[in-house]
Amino acid sequence: MRRFALVFILSALTVGAAAAGPPPLASDAEIDAAERAPLPAIVVSMKWNEPLAPFNVIGNIYYVGTVEVGAYLVTSPKGHILIDGVLPQTAPQIIANIHALGFDIRDVKFLLNSHAHFDHAGGLAGLQRASGAAMVASAGDRATLEAGEIAYGPSAGMHFPPVRVDRVIGDGETVEVGGVTMVAHMTPGHTAGCTSWSLKVADADGAPHTAFIHCSATVAGQSLVPESYPGMVADYRATFARVRKFDADVFLANHAGFFGLEAKRARRLAGDVDAFVDTGALQRFNAALEKAFEKELARQQANAK
Ligand SMILES: [Zn+2]
Repeated sequence: MRRFALVFILSALTVGAAAAGPPPLASDAEIDAAERAPLPAIVVSMKWNEPLAPFNVIGNIYYVGTVEVGAYLVTSPKGHILIDGVLPQTAPQIIANIHALGFDIRDVKFLLNSHAHFDHAGGLAGLQRASGAAMVASAGDRATLEAGEIAYGPSAGMHFPPVRVDRVIGDGETVEVGGVTMVAHMTPGHTAGCTSWSLKVADADGAPHTAFIHCSATVAGQSLVPESYPGMVADYRATFARVRKFDADVFLANHAGFFGLEAKRARRLAGDVDAFVDTGALQRFNAALEKAFEKELARQQANAK
């Protein structure tokens, strides 16, 4: 009896020690308050926090985001990877979505981020609290994630609970769990550390595909003249050139409108396992963004004269 009690106490201590880990950057009170905070008007009008029933995209990739802002769960038998946290107010929705799919937030081992704006990184601290997962981020966005606020652009001052970055990842480096390998692609411009992610995936028929989750390269109201951060214009152009060389037939992104989520989702729910296979989509998107970027740069240069 005494021996049993001792084992119980020891295992309780072990669990306690594991759960403690490195300290979080945001307190429970800060995360709770941010989850309950009223939504900014733009968030409501753009449907950034409007719930959407989660669904399988292809293979082991699931959509767990909102009507308009993407979040993806990539599953493996040994743990999962979650890409993006959407808004602070969205974290409970994402946790519920993961549960509705039959998975457990506590099995998420790694949190990844496309970029450190409040509408894609805001929920990460709450998701880190719920999962205990390691946050993996680029050097360029780390300071923003850990400050809970970006220093430039229209969302400067839009504070979100800061998330502790456990590992800094560079271009071409990977995050691996249970046979899943996510490759980081540095695609800066939209933010200094904007990161796209790719992975190999097999569809329900076993056919191999490559998925690419684009970070975004829209200008989105940021100043290019003068640059919002040093090297911003060169970063955008290098990103367009880099993405041009990338071959992926499953194009995903962090805003639904970027990749036609609504129509593809309808086809997927109707039973098409390859609804998200769209061979030219990534390059069409990249070309359209490049054109829009050069047009906006020329406009800002003309205004500055
Ligand atoms: Zn953004």
